[in-house]
Amino acid sequence: MSLCHTCEAVKRIESAKGSVFWMCTRHASDPRFPKYPPQPVRACVGWIRASPSDGLDAGPRDSRVERE
Ligand code: SF4
Repeated sequence: MSLCHTCEAVKRIESAKGSVFWMCTRHASDPRFPKYPPQPVRACVGWIRASPSDGLDAGPRDSRVERE
């Protein structure tokens, strides 16, 4: 599983053909983050766990994970 799947900064995009893409919204303000990070992302300095209202996985917020 990729960190992006539980990150508050991700936008899940599904194409008309059913392909799923994970867009990093941090890309717009920080060039360290690719717009479409190669998956799976195992470590990332920008990761913050999504809140339940984001519609993704919920749990404690923690941004201490490091990018590989
Ligand atoms: S900040 Fe990191 S974990 Fe979050 S969406 Fe962007 S690349 Fe994925």
